[in-house]
Amino acid sequence: MRFDIISVLPGLLESPFAHSILQRAQKKGISEIVVHNLRDYATNKQKSVDDYPYGGGSGMVMTIPPFAACIEKLKSEREYDEIIFMSPDGETLNQAIANQLSIKKNIIILCGHYKGIDQRIRDIYVTREISIGDYVLSGGELPAAVLVDAVVRLIPGVLSDETSALSDSFQDDLLDAPVYTRPADWNGHKVPEILLGGNTPEIEKWRHEQALERTKARRPDLLDRGE
Ligand code: SAH
Repeated sequence: MRFDIISVLPGLLESPFAHSILQRAQKKGISEIVVHNLRDYATNKQKSVDDYPYGGGSGMVMTIPPFAACIEKLKSEREYDEIIFMSPDGETLNQAIANQLSIKKNIIILCGHYKGIDQRIRDIYVTREISIGDYVLSGGELPAAVLVDAVVRLIPGVLSDETSALSDSFQDDLLDAPVYTRPADWNGHKVPEILLGGNTPEIEKWRHEQALERTKARRPDLLDRGE
């Protein structure tokens, strides 16, 4: 699976993909993440990518030509399943969206800045708009990194124990059960007895009950959704 991320601050995207699971996915050739510097596609002398908003008001708006040039070049090289704009007014990212995207082949992600991008880029090119939550960040890079992480870890072969993504919170509209590791007794705080016994069916049952209880207490809305 390939991601092409178009950004005016590509440096912001170096570290998130250079460690741990996302790095391993790229080394294994399961995912490819290519970051494009929007400024390389600016044709004016100042290499500017933003301009004053029509109608006045505060803040700058990202212009059409650099995004159009970069997107057109990428589209001439391969077919894309989605062109996603990270935006606070998009659909809110959740596990279902991550699952849908994890079976795609090629995705372009546009990162906005300032007041946002010229509406016509959204009208002409963008196929999907995704928000990472009801708050406003200063740029689309961190949201893009969040989206790519959520998607890539779902691709088979990325996580070393493939089944572990399946029991994550939200995967089946349930939060995850509590987890424990050694020592079994920490200053009198003991690991639940059932986990020490090795009775796998009983442990699975306990985990499911715990997940259900936690979901009821913290996110009852998830249970309503599954009905
Ligand atoms: N004026 C815009 C916000 C611009 S913030 C508005 O009110 O909708 C600048 C850029 O940061 C956005 O274009 C978007 O790409 C990114 N961004 C900010 N918050 C985000 C969020 N919650 N989810 C996804 N992208 C976000």
